[in-house]
Amino acid sequence: MERNTLTQNTSFQLGEFDIIAAYFKDLTDQDGVALGIGDDAAIINLPLQSETQLVVASDTLVDGVHFPSDASACQIARRALCVNLSDMAAMAAIPRWFTLALTLPREKANRQWLRDFSAGLAEVALEYNCALIGGDTTAGPLSITITMLGEVAAGAGLMRSGATNGDGIYVTGFLGDGAAGLLATTEINSLSSIPINVSERLLNFFYQPRPQINAALKIRYLASACIDISDGLVADLGHICESSGVAASINTAMLPIHPDLKEHFEDQCHNWALFGGDDYQLCFTVPAADLPAIDDWIFHGELDATRIGSIVSSSDDNPVVLIDGCKSIDQLRGFDHFVL
Ligand code: ADP
Ligand code: MG
Repeated sequence: MERNTLTQNTSFQLGEFDIIAAYFKDLTDQDGVALGIGDDAAIINLPLQSETQLVVASDTLVDGVHFPSDASACQIARRALCVNLSDMAAMAAIPRWFTLALTLPREKANRQWLRDFSAGLAEVALEYNCALIGGDTTAGPLSITITMLGEVAAGAGLMRSGATNGDGIYVTGFLGDGAAGLLATTEINSLSSIPINVSERLLNFFYQPRPQINAALKIRYLASACIDISDGLVADLGHICESSGVAASINTAMLPIHPDLKEHFEDQCHNWALFGGDDYQLCFTVPAADLPAIDDWIFHGELDATRIGSIVSSSDDNPVVLIDGCKSIDQLRGFDHFVL
């Protein structure tokens, strides 16, 4: 961008270009990058043959909306990168490169905040082997936009639209930890009865969800549809159903809920698993013929996933996602443990 307000302000300790050079320029290995940070745009090498496709996703995190205002720079950076990586997992793509558009209030543009932010970003980028190749730095209310670029074998990208009647429905990991983690960020005091190791696990999970790249790569040739769970299982499974023109029937007794949640949040945990957001697990469907292969991987510990239901044909009388056979959310609220 031409005239950045950061560099115009003389009382500001660090200018835009100082920030980029000190905290973003050499953050990661530059595999496949022909021209990285420092010019008007980055250039990346793509194979001349078309056996791979480029997968592109963007997510913005806004202060006070997507993370609490008292979150540390390191926590914000990790979360921003993880939620973008989760979109790559949802497509079964291998993350490769990302850009960072950082809007930063003047009071945060100090060396310590930027060092922590850069360290959090580098840690996750290293773990998932993706390179920061460019971005933009401006002054204003704190917001972070990451655009992630990944690779997928041509035609192997998992979409929301492939589920058919009779497919099994699976989720990876545990559900409900994201909603519990959000509570842990906002209501530390009301969690005083919860052991410290439990609230710490939840906080860590909230700030560093585990993008399910490996699970996605494992299932990519068997799954018929896939989505990452950012808005809650029912909402996101609903997207698969709408895109695929089907409905889903799930069994709440099968929902994978961490024992900590069952023990300390007995009343809320089913509700969180169904409707809470921020889990960043995958929900995927598998044709009936391939269910034994998936179940075998799960049985042998090669895939951390749970079968929670089946795809059924859609009908005007039923909701898109039938929960324990209930036809409406109102009916569900009849059960104590589903009170919202
Ligand atoms: P321009 O004025 O052409 O838009 P900038 O001066 O904004 O370019 O950026 C200079 C270089 O620094 C570019 O290569 C840009 O991609 C990179 N850059 C700017 N901000 C960031 C950031 N937050 N993270 C990584 N790279 C950045
Ligand atoms: Mg330019």
